[in-house]
Amino acid sequence: MSTFASRLEEALARIRARSEYRTLRPAVPVLGGKLVRDGRSFLDFSSNDYLGLSQHPLLRQRASEWAELHGAGSGASRLVSGTSPLHVAVERKIAAFKGAEAALVFASGWQLNAAVLPALLNAAPDALVFTDRLIHASLHHGCAAAAVHEIRFRHNDLAHLEALLAQHSGKAGPRLIVTESVFSMDGDRADLDRLAALARRHDAFLYVDEAHATGVLGPRGAGLASNLPGAFDLVMGTFSKALGCFGAYVAGSRLLIDYLVNCCGGFIFSTAPPPSMLGAIDAALDLAPQMEAERDKLAQLGVRLRARLAAAGLHSGPSSTQIVPVIVGEAERTLALSGALASEGMLAAAIRPPTVPAGTSRLRIVLRATHEAEDIDRLADTLARRLS
Ligand SMILES: *Cc1c(COP(=O)(O)O)cnc(C)c1O
Repeated sequence: MSTFASRLEEALARIRARSEYRTLRPAVPVLGGKLVRDGRSFLDFSSNDYLGLSQHPLLRQRASEWAELHGAGSGASRLVSGTSPLHVAVERKIAAFKGAEAALVFASGWQLNAAVLPALLNAAPDALVFTDRLIHASLHHGCAAAAVHEIRFRHNDLAHLEALLAQHSGKAGPRLIVTESVFSMDGDRADLDRLAALARRHDAFLYVDEAHATGVLGPRGAGLASNLPGAFDLVMGTFSKALGCFGAYVAGSRLLIDYLVNCCGGFIFSTAPPPSMLGAIDAALDLAPQMEAERDKLAQLGVRLRARLAAAGLHSGPSSTQIVPVIVGEAERTLALSGALASEGMLAAAIRPPTVPAGTSRLRIVLRATHEAEDIDRLADTLARRLS
């Protein structure tokens, strides 16, 4: 083994010692919010397929139709061989859904955040970047790739953000604020009204990640930023969660999108998304805006689970959405609880550091419109029994 490879081995040994070692386990999603693993069927509380769209016939059909008609791959970057009418049409549809002037599709949400932030900051290397402490790893990665120092405010603490903005008011350079509308590990929401007012007062550019709100919250499921048209400079989200397929969008002004087409390496040097992916996105955008009944049901399931957990004395933090954490504390105990749930036929992911801060390991329970009230009760009863 080379000296370099032995470093990898040492790194994995340290991860094992912290009970943070991960493996890829085979599992197959099936209809009705279930998952088959090791030949056993589980009730799944781990996937982000909030509306159950990943198995919807219209998405499957349009994905295969567009692949049949236009091919399996797109061949090159859109700036090299020209952009297809499919991309243009789907981006128009996204822009209309989000109430934005323009939109651009990326390969994934992770790739988008990791590429768009450094592209933006390239135009303003003197920018002061204010970030919520709990933003997604891809957003931190984008800041790191831009080599900017993040000025982090306490999670959802806008008084702290305001104090930091005031503290740095003597400094030159444009302001950028980065946050999420729904936080992926806590299931709580940012106060976007206050944030928008704050950004306006401080002449800050506001970057909002709507990965977990897109399709689920806001008018016609367009996300929480759509409650305040024009208040946000950049809104991104993924098609990989509630919209049931794959890829991501950034929506904003024509100026913003033109800038990204010209200056974002992750767009310029990456092959255009394939027809099958665009077909699935197109179908999801036809369906999701009308799924009010599913969105209502999802909200009801969340209310039910939080009430059940609270009644059992369990702590689900500030969640107000379809993501409901059960905060356990230690990584090892959380893993054991996840294992115990699995032994009773239910899957919920144990989320450990470095995904969440040390001492806040949790089960991340993800609800879906395909769950039933009895499923929630069974889960809550089992957790209450296991944790008491
Ligand atoms: C899942 C997620 C992403 C990444 O999106 P993918 O399309 O899965 O790569 C980005 N931001 C947040 C907040 C997420 O939860």
